Amino acid sequence: MVQGAEAKMKGSGPEEVKVVVRCRPMNEQETASGHKRVVDMDVDRGVVELRNVKAPDTDPPKTFTFDAVYDWNSKQQELYDETFRPLVESVLCGFNGTIFAYGQTGTGKTYTMEGIRDDPEQRGVIPNSFEHIFNHIARSSNQQYLIRSSYLEIYQEEIRDLLGKDQKKRLELKERPDTGVYVKDLQQFVCKSVNEIQHVMTVGNQNRAVGATNMNLHSSRSHAIFIITIECSDVDLKGKGHIRVGKLNLVDLAGSERQSKTGSVGDRLKEATKINLSLSALGNVISALVDGKSTHIPYRDSKLTRLLQDSLGGNSKTIMVANIGPASYNYDETITTLRYANRAKNIKNKPKINEDPKDAILREYQQELARLKAQLTQRGGKKKKKKKHVEGDTAEGEEEEEDGVDEEGILQQQHELEEERNRILNDQHMIEEEKQRYLTELKDKEAVLISTKEAQEKLLGRIQTMESKLLCGGKNIIDHTNEQQRALQQRTQELMEQKKREREMLQLLEKEEESSCEIASTFSSLQGEVEAKTRKLKKLFAKLQSVKQEMADLHEEFCRDRVDLQHTQDVLTRELKLKALIIENFISPEEKRKILSRAFFDDDEDVWKLRPVVRQTGGTLKRPVSSASRRPTSEYAKMQASVDHNPRYKGENIMVVELDPAVRTTRDWEGPVVAPRVAAALEAALMPLDDDLSIDASLATLNRSQAVRSTRKEKTKGKFKSGLRPPSQVPDSSLYPKSRGLVPK
Ligand code: ADP
Ligand code: MG
Repeated sequence: MVQGAEAKMKGSGPEEVKVVVRCRPMNEQETASGHKRVVDMDVDRGVVELRNVKAPDTDPPKTFTFDAVYDWNSKQQELYDETFRPLVESVLCGFNGTIFAYGQTGTGKTYTMEGIRDDPEQRGVIPNSFEHIFNHIARSSNQQYLIRSSYLEIYQEEIRDLLGKDQKKRLELKERPDTGVYVKDLQQFVCKSVNEIQHVMTVGNQNRAVGATNMNLHSSRSHAIFIITIECSDVDLKGKGHIRVGKLNLVDLAGSERQSKTGSVGDRLKEATKINLSLSALGNVISALVDGKSTHIPYRDSKLTRLLQDSLGGNSKTIMVANIGPASYNYDETITTLRYANRAKNIKNKPKINEDPKDAILREYQQELARLKAQLTQRGGKKKKKKKHVEGDTAEGEEEEEDGVDEEGILQQQHELEEERNRILNDQHMIEEEKQRYLTELKDKEAVLISTKEAQEKLLGRIQTMESKLLCGGKNIIDHTNEQQRALQQRTQELMEQKKREREMLQLLEKEEESSCEIASTFSSLQGEVEAKTRKLKKLFAKLQSVKQEMADLHEEFCRDRVDLQHTQDVLTRELKLKALIIENFISPEEKRKILSRAFFDDDEDVWKLRPVVRQTGGTLKRPVSSASRRPTSEYAKMQASVDHNPRYKGENIMVVELDPAVRTTRDWEGPVVAPRVAAALEAALMPLDDDLSIDASLATLNRSQAVRSTRKEKTKGKFKSGLRPPSQVPDSSLYPKSRGLVPK
């Protein structure tokens, strides 16, 4: 069955992106507040109808047709079997596959992708695909598989590895001509079972929650991508080994609702524009792919579109699930989602199997395993070799047996050594010295034996770990239950296929009915013809009305988008002008020119960068060289400099530093010369008197002579014992002048 399906897929040419719509049930809150359901779904025909409660009743509902639609009663398993299982099956055959969940926050994207993992009924695509993949491997025969998984998140245009040790680290996108765009340093874990891959997802989810302050807000603004890489090796009819690599991207996109940008400036605006940058870029890529005229597809505008370039118009098989809510208050978002999805279904991909890619890890594993096994053979491994050579060259097997140092041999040798030791120890005739020598030799031999054993065990361990990572089908492939399961699945698959075909037929029939108006029909009477034509006219008129309405709606939406963009542009222009102003006024033209010549745009990181400064001369920067003499010097001066020591002729940095004491230009101070007569007079005058005068200097009536006398008294003061003053010296208050009181006016 797989082979047949594969052949069918291999033969298929370009195929369109498959778009399905899923509407969640009304939640309790909506029911409690009495919201009306405005979504109707015809599951058989794949049609969604949306009524606008604000529009007049006469307006026809908006109708969209998709590959499949799933209403509020749909089961997770049903979705998986009908829509996702074929895609995962293709990935197992070596195609790349992508599943997107798109829609407003709270409409069931995470429910569809992940669901409730502990409840088998409510498990989403991701856990169901785990089961599917490992069951497929268990049932395979003559094939080897290697499964790896990674989990990343894009938030505000930054990529974070949800399985990385350092959660603060941001990863970069790189591109290689042979393998395309990839995330550098993204961790990949080899998974050997459903439990292991589930554990990987749990760890990633925990990291996602840890990084967020508000999980709801965070998850509605970030894109989470779970990547499963499946490598499969099998042997073709000619006995040649082939490796096919399929990559499955499971994408839970950010909420598609409009992020309000109004009023935000600076960093806030940057954040607002970045939040949905990836989503709007996704929209632009879809539009460009669909309109058929664009020669340039703006994949590079965002990290998400770059990473999933293959899935949109590339070599991948892609399914988009558009999630919508049923209630009337979500009308605007629902119609936007449906229009978005409607556009996406026209994208054409060219899926192809990735056969024998250069970077297949499985091949590296196989080569490493072969090398290790060869090493083991060299060391011995009689048992294994014997098995291998059962029907082959027995001579070789025997030869190995002789040289072999296999586990049994080692044990035997160890045993022999032990016996030898005992024999030596018990030998009474041997000299003590000789005994010791033999024993040391034995010890050395034993050590060599042990190290050989250890090396062999290590090698075996490595081989076993590597082999355990490569998964093969169950040994008893004809197992009864397995067969039954397989048959059951085939029947389900057939049933689903039939359902799908029926839906396609119905859709085709409807289309033909609409276009068959030109087919001439013969009518029995004029009346009959009038009736039939009126009916047709009415139908066409209704269609015309709905198309007109659609046009008006689209125009309105377009206007809204334009206003938004214009606002963003205004703010950005203002910022640009401010920066230009600063550059014009505060940065010299020379500096500006230098910076401009160094600036370049880094495509990988999407930012402008500066090249490091490079010297024009190429070599290291030289100091400016001074001339031998910095001043023009005459020949005479040069000659004099060599013979004369006068500093005048020396170079300007050379001085003769014999310090000459400077000639003194000041004199010591000499007191005034007093004539001897005057000096004697003064001496006499300054002679101390017997009766001391004690007149306070503060006296207002003091005249000059008194002041002099008082000075004399100060001079003689030291003659009395300190602190003791004769009673006669106590100043008499009568000596003081009377206060004059206030001066009359
Ligand atoms: P989103 O990821 O789009 O923001 P969620 O997946 O978190 O939305 O869904 C929001 C809520 O709606 C969850 O509680 C989820 O269980 C519920 N829900 C969504 N779709 C369905 C559905 N088809 N059936 C039942 N419950 C659903
Ligand atoms: Mg979610």
